Amino acid sequence: MNLKPLAESKRFKIYHFLNTRMELLPDDRWNYQKLKSGFEGELFFQSLTDKLQCNCYVLNDLLFELNGTTFQIDSLIIFQDIISLNEVKNFRGDFFYQDGKFYDSNGKERKDPLVQLENCESMFRQLLEKLGFKFTVIGKVVHVNPEFTLYQAPLKVPIIFPTQLNTYMRKLEAAPAALNSKHRKLLEKLLSLHLAENPYAKLPDYEYGKMRKGLTCGICCSFQVSVNGQRCVCGDCGHEEKVESAVLRHVEELRLLFPDFKVTTNLVFEWCGGGVDRKRVHRILCNHFNIVGERRWVYFVHKQQ
Ligand SMILES: [Zn+2]
Repeated sequence: MNLKPLAESKRFKIYHFLNTRMELLPDDRWNYQKLKSGFEGELFFQSLTDKLQCNCYVLNDLLFELNGTTFQIDSLIIFQDIISLNEVKNFRGDFFYQDGKFYDSNGKERKDPLVQLENCESMFRQLLEKLGFKFTVIGKVVHVNPEFTLYQAPLKVPIIFPTQLNTYMRKLEAAPAALNSKHRKLLEKLLSLHLAENPYAKLPDYEYGKMRKGLTCGICCSFQVSVNGQRCVCGDCGHEEKVESAVLRHVEELRLLFPDFKVTTNLVFEWCGGGVDRKRVHRILCNHFNIVGERRWVYFVHKQQ
């Protein structure tokens, strides 16, 4: 039972929008690619755990803070007596271990997923103890990319290789999963302690004036979008979207990137690069938001606020 489905983080979304509307610095581009590939790997692993028929609880992408340290768990599965903790990796290419260190094919040392797993497991055990629960925690680094190869892996390490995924899922399926109120309590506790965003995660620098304005395609991010009656049509991938939904998507983009900005007709009109005429933008905003202020000072806020 998937009780906390994976969702794109705010940070990931911001990176995604920035990547579309400005030239990211090499480090930021690398971070974005890492986030993107990590997210895709987790999505894939979630598609496997979604197929589990047993009554276990599956929680994806958890973030906790304990004693001033934050730690993240990609996939956590609560069974009757054990908790399976999975550090999901979507690495592609050749990697190797030498003298206990982890390297990529260029011989560049990389963060060792086994060390990451060890830290995460230890933090999670401490958290469980603090909460007064006793479970056996079994952690695994799960490599999901079929193009991942690891040379000189130490024997008996908690790694699941892409070729072992099916066997691993069958093993999880077979674990006893008669859950009761104790498990429910733990589930609720964990969900309540989960932090929505990592307060220490860095974001690239960006400013409104330097970003490319214009309607973008919701699927392929292309700027080759034209308005045709009620629809926006992407000249690159052919995706069609209602003008209304496209404008609202651009408003959400603005709100995420510039939470301090007041949403005005002019701002949205400009952000869409003038692709949707001002009156139409105004009408859409009036339909979906509450109006605050008067005349030329009008701006829009979400209805629930
Ligand atoms: Zn497109």
